[in-house]
Amino acid sequence: MSDCIFCKIVAGDIPAKKIYEDEHVLAFHDINPVAPVHTLVIPKLHIPSMAELQPEHEAVMGKVMIAASRIARELHCTDGFRTIVNTGRVGRQEVYHLHVHVVGGPDVLPAMLKR
Ligand code: AMP
Ligand code: ZN
Repeated sequence: MSDCIFCKIVAGDIPAKKIYEDEHVLAFHDINPVAPVHTLVIPKLHIPSMAELQPEHEAVMGKVMIAASRIARELHCTDGFRTIVNTGRVGRQEVYHLHVHVVGGPDVLPAMLKR
């Protein structure tokens, strides 16, 4: 997808602070972090959002989640962290290339949603 910012990061056309990369998965620090640890873990394949996931994405999404777990451990989130996947208009997704936020740090995070 030529106009997708995360595809451009995958292609190396725009820079990112990469944490992890393999054949199918890329992880990098969020450019506008909301917590001491805030990384994005993405499939290299352009999948616009969770809403577009298909059975053939099972393996790559498994790799994304395993990478997210390992990255959280390596970034010392040993006492917990939060994974977030914003989806579509209602989910306030901003970048339409599926990504898993890994958010954490030494302090307890605020409640996920306010009542
Ligand atoms: P979402 O609302 O879930 O789509 O979140 C998109 C996230 O991508 C936001 O947290 C942005 O700060 C982050 N972001 C946007 N552009 C970049 C970039 N070039 N490098 C790293 N993170 C980015
Ligand atoms: Zn993309």
